[in-house]
Amino acid sequence: MISIIIPCYNEEETIPFYLKAIAPVRHQVSEPFEFIFVNDGSTDHTLSVLRKASTDLKGVRFISFSRNFGKEAALLAGLREAKGDYVAVMDVDLQDPPELLVKMYDIITTKNVDCVATRRDTREGEPIIRSFFAELFYKIVNKISSTKMVDGARDFRLMTRQMVDAILSLTEYNRFSKGLFEWVGFETEYIAYDNVERSTGTSKWNFWSLFSYSIDGIINFSEMPLNIASVMGALACLFSGIAMIYIIIRTIVFGDPTSGWPSLVTIVLFVGGLQLLSLGIIGKYISKIFLETKRRPNYIIKEKSDEDTSSKW
Ligand code: UDP
Ligand code: MG
Repeated sequence: MISIIIPCYNEEETIPFYLKAIAPVRHQVSEPFEFIFVNDGSTDHTLSVLRKASTDLKGVRFISFSRNFGKEAALLAGLREAKGDYVAVMDVDLQDPPELLVKMYDIITTKNVDCVATRRDTREGEPIIRSFFAELFYKIVNKISSTKMVDGARDFRLMTRQMVDAILSLTEYNRFSKGLFEWVGFETEYIAYDNVERSTGTSKWNFWSLFSYSIDGIINFSEMPLNIASVMGALACLFSGIAMIYIIIRTIVFGDPTSGWPSLVTIVLFVGGLQLLSLGIIGKYISKIFLETKRRPNYIIKEKSDEDTSSKW
């Protein structure tokens, strides 16, 4: 069986389009499908749309959260719920073309890889500023982290049961899936496709949510910011040490009093800034540790679909 996990947050408009688009794919693959929709605390009618779909259509189930916990939590819930030998993760807005699933299934069964993932060739149709920062993020994270993340990689992927179990064995609270998928290793084949725009509705991400998501990615997969803070501290010490010796010698030899408080003030502010920056970086890691040690669940389930009884589709 193939399980498909579909996180949904305020997607009442897109779900019908999705179901329509995925229907033909079900007949092109020899294995049966299981669809697990995760309602991530939507405030629109997503839940009632899902309730109806799950009673009407064979193989459609849903999990509904008590509030919005974010896409990462929704993915985790879906992975835990999936029973299939192969598990796919995809968005509901048709930015992940359903017909690609056929090709992905072909590759994973014939080439003996553990995962077939997708990558967007272009970022066409995306705001320029968003593309710019996305590229910058991948450049930085790939420089400073040993976990390599592929630029343009989508969450859309088909994995074997073995890889899914490996991902589920990672128990951390702060989950950055793009990194986790890479971290567990296994053989992944990427297929590229042209960017597709959302079917309807709007993206749930704005600049700041993406920015803080990218900071999460860096903090979760690299200790480099901490190293940078230490190196900056060491360099500041070194330079001020040299300057101090120079000033002492100059006073002994020439006897002139050290003049100029503006230079002093700039130095004090500069060093103060360095200290605050380093504290901020350390604080980021401590806040992650704090969240991690609270051991709160990633999500709370309020409702689940009944056992699958329908036979229609
Ligand atoms: N999503 C979610 N929880 C959230 C935000 C988004 O489950 O808090 C889902 C959303 O319903 C969609 C997928 O994650 O299926 C991708 O979201 P979106 O299309 O808004 O992101 P984009 O494609 O713009 O990156
Ligand atoms: Mg989208």
